[in-house]
Amino acid sequence: MSTRHEFQAEVSQVLRLVIHSLYSNKEIFLRELVSNASDALDRRRFLAIGQPELLGDGEKLRIRLIPDPAAGTLTIWDNGVGMDEEELKRSLGTVAWSGSREFLERMKGASEGQDLPKLIGQFGVGFYSAYLVAGRVTVTSRKAGSERAFRWDSTGEDGYTIEPAERESVGTSVVLHLRDDQREYLEPLRLRNLVRRYSDYIPYPIELVKEPSATDADIVNRASALWHRQPKEVTREEYVEFYKHLTHDFEEPLAYRHFHIEGTTMFSGLVFVPKRAPFDLFDPEPRHGVRLHVRRVLVMENAPELVPRWLRFVRGVIDSEDLPLNVSRELLQDSRLVKIIQKQIVHQTLDLLAEIARDRPADYETFFRTFGAVLKEGFHFDPEHKNQLARLCRFQSAARGAPIGLDEYVRAMPEGQPAIYYLTAASQKLAASSPHLERVRASGYDVLLLSDAVDPFVMERLTEYEGKPFISVTSPDLRLPAAAPETPPADKTPLFQRFERVLKERVAEVKASTRLTDSPACLVVAEGALAPHIERLLRASGRDVPASRRILELNLEHPLVRHVTELEAREPGSERVAEWIELLYDQALLSEGSPLEDPGAFAKRLSKVLTAAAEHQLGSTASGEGHSGEGDR
Ligand code: ADP
Repeated sequence: MSTRHEFQAEVSQVLRLVIHSLYSNKEIFLRELVSNASDALDRRRFLAIGQPELLGDGEKLRIRLIPDPAAGTLTIWDNGVGMDEEELKRSLGTVAWSGSREFLERMKGASEGQDLPKLIGQFGVGFYSAYLVAGRVTVTSRKAGSERAFRWDSTGEDGYTIEPAERESVGTSVVLHLRDDQREYLEPLRLRNLVRRYSDYIPYPIELVKEPSATDADIVNRASALWHRQPKEVTREEYVEFYKHLTHDFEEPLAYRHFHIEGTTMFSGLVFVPKRAPFDLFDPEPRHGVRLHVRRVLVMENAPELVPRWLRFVRGVIDSEDLPLNVSRELLQDSRLVKIIQKQIVHQTLDLLAEIARDRPADYETFFRTFGAVLKEGFHFDPEHKNQLARLCRFQSAARGAPIGLDEYVRAMPEGQPAIYYLTAASQKLAASSPHLERVRASGYDVLLLSDAVDPFVMERLTEYEGKPFISVTSPDLRLPAAAPETPPADKTPLFQRFERVLKERVAEVKASTRLTDSPACLVVAEGALAPHIERLLRASGRDVPASRRILELNLEHPLVRHVTELEAREPGSERVAEWIELLYDQALLSEGSPLEDPGAFAKRLSKVLTAAAEHQLGSTASGEGHSGEGDR
């Protein structure tokens, strides 16, 4: 007796897209279905480690392709782990990420059809690509350990039915009722070529059955684990197809590295750097990473123990000869072998990245834009790699307006430049317009503008490069050749005292600046204190950070500061001067992107001086600026 079920709304949406797609590269359906079959075989082999009865003696794990021209069907048969009734409903009727905003946005983008493969790949909906070529799909499956089989059936448009069925062995058969214009997928030659192209690396035999009733069949793939072969025997195309199978990414990887390690412990590995970031790159527990095999048996789909967090964009396979087959998470966490494997993955990946940086600078820039913020976490988590990481980092250069490496920075340093200058800020825009850059830039020195959230942690570790110290342009001592007097002349002192009285608790000190040329004032962090945007970040994350008082630096050459000095000399202690001081202080806060303590008061003061300036420009006499209340300021 069959029962009818509705697809989850998101699945119907995917199906509608697939069925009506004008996407011309329909042949990808075969790779997807063969890939699913291969995964099912992996799972059955893995389960049989603990429960040997799940895999009968002498039963050979394999995939069969059975074209039937009379019926117009192509069957993809496997003796993998199989699915029971519930799993059929869940796996072929729902998607795990329902309601995900990311998905809905991609659906919108994919409606033109060309984006379809990306959608299928990124969200793991490969099964539905069957509807690129089939008007109806029937899946018969029997789960390992069960006597009962079930049949799932759907045209993709009106829900699906499930009913009890017969299947002589454990596993799954996917029967595609090909559309009339897709009968080419019944031709053995076409199928053979497709398997060669897309699925040669599948480590199980893929048999092409010549006639539905025939018992003999040709094995059409190489059926050996690709990572066990010698790198020079594997073609680029094979690596690319293997990567696509492994990751469901429809784009090629940016780079890969294949290695065999033989020593006290033996393992093979294949690491890939993708081109695009997965949508869960910044999730606390990303779902994708490196697969772990033990003597060819897949034992873990994703083993985060093998890769440090700051390389979590790396995908790949490790196959160990020495770990036990029944390896558990706990065992992985404190296994000496795992430490050796991890070290090797780090080494190979950093080396690979250095190679891309050297040989393909444009690709490297893309890589760093996509994954740089993740890579930089390495300074914090694994400082022993800081020298290698420093060479791999790219930072925005104020002089070039483009990202550069530290080697390039050092090479461009003029004679006598004492340090590598940098600025951390909440955004690139704020950094680029910061008054702190002025004098350093005027001295002909470049400044690196850092605005990633991890950058302050990077700078904690990165104290020097090639013997050059790093100096923040907001630090009190810039080591610039003196251009303006370090200590104010005596007649400026009353002004500083006045500033300190007006700004009382808000600043630690007022000083003459040597770093400003165009701006009247800026705020400087005392030695060892945190940058203001970092303080705010920490506070926002619930940490108790005391407000640190900073140093207000004044540009004594600036006309505004000169006028205020004169005004204070003429009318010592006047309220007018206090207002100017407040304005200068608030302006310094604004230019570094800090919030004002009292924006209302700032706006009022600003309107007042703007009104006065406008009246002045109109030639009328300034008025309404009465000398009210000369208080204690
Ligand atoms: P993905 O493979 O990325 O998870 P699919 O849409 O291709 O997405 O498949 C959905 C699920 O259906 C799989 O995760 C698997 O659990 C199940 N499945 C598909 N094909 C098979 C098969 N041949 N044998 C067993 N399970 C399968």
